[in-house]
Amino acid sequence: MTRVIITGGKIVTPDKTLLDHSLVIEHGKIVSLVIGNLQVGSTDHIIDAQGLWVTPGYIDVHVHGSAKADTMDATPEVIHAMARFFASCGVTGYYPTTMSGWPEPTQAAIDNVATCPQPVDGAHHLGVHVEGPYLDVTYKGAQPEHFLRDADPAEYEAWLVTGVVKLVTLAPERSGSLDFIDQGVSEGVEFAVAHSAASYEQVIEAADHGLRQGTHTFNGMLGLHHRAPGTVGGILADERIYAQVIADGIHLHPGIVKLIVRAKTPKRTILITDAIRAAGCVDGKYDLSGEIIDVENGIARNVAGSLAGSTLTMDAAVRNAMEASGLDFETVLPMATSVPAEAMNLKGQKGTLQPGADADVILLDDELNVCMTMVAGHIVYEATEAEKIIGEV
Ligand SMILES: [Zn+2]
Repeated sequence: MTRVIITGGKIVTPDKTLLDHSLVIEHGKIVSLVIGNLQVGSTDHIIDAQGLWVTPGYIDVHVHGSAKADTMDATPEVIHAMARFFASCGVTGYYPTTMSGWPEPTQAAIDNVATCPQPVDGAHHLGVHVEGPYLDVTYKGAQPEHFLRDADPAEYEAWLVTGVVKLVTLAPERSGSLDFIDQGVSEGVEFAVAHSAASYEQVIEAADHGLRQGTHTFNGMLGLHHRAPGTVGGILADERIYAQVIADGIHLHPGIVKLIVRAKTPKRTILITDAIRAAGCVDGKYDLSGEIIDVENGIARNVAGSLAGSTLTMDAAVRNAMEASGLDFETVLPMATSVPAEAMNLKGQKGTLQPGADADVILLDDELNVCMTMVAGHIVYEATEAEKIIGEV
């Protein structure tokens, strides 16, 4: 069995950053972190990470598309296109995210992910994030209003049967939402609040039922007021809730990113992209759930002028969050790795460099550019095309 040994880099582990260590990988898993010179065998594959960060791969729990592909297109090709693009941004695992739609297209998007094999040359899909359609009209953002409706057991039970739906964003104040949370939580599904007019009290009540995330905190929800804390106040104040953050410099003022991180701490903050198919593409017009989205200078808006997702990438999100929060790389990194993994019930399995975890590893230079991405022990992306190795190493 070929061992993969990453040596010479700054290896970021849950406890501390290790120098003069080697990360040893076998069968797609991290087996050990060894100090000093390792006895190297003739079949070992050595990766020299001299001068580079060696970190867990990024995990994006909220992303609709990229590279012209959208989760709602519901074909294996779009999943493949997204997977390859995300690998180039340091993402090793992601949750293809739906938009509000009629029942059939939503089910088709879920079924597509459920049946789509993991790509050999890109990020792995870890489940579906269903965003909508059980959302509030006032805070719809770019979610098409005519699709928004109350939670319907006949519809969502078919989602749950697939076993691939891992996260649902809803407005907990809508009729039937709390029943859905009760049922979903009993089946291991996570819930997030957004596109919601939920009061502070309604957010806390939803958390009592098992809701554990705020989707794109501050965007598409009842805001903060000192006598009516609203949806934002519930997310910020309740320590059970993880706050998703779009750190693209557009959806949130950098001061708000800093405020969220200070209120929630990095342990309860999740960096997301909320990217749409225009991510990784030039400015222009793109489809989002049947609506035309205009992308100008990387900013995506619908015809009504609402922000409609982003063109953010996870590597940029990490850099932006560092700048906004004033925190260093090793403090910000968990918000893109171990924290989303923990929030999605993958603690110790993903988002961490420790024995037993999946070998989802990235190499970054000092500017935090992605030099190499490895998923389950396979190199799926290398910055220098000539050195690119696809498949099993
Ligand atoms: Zn949204």
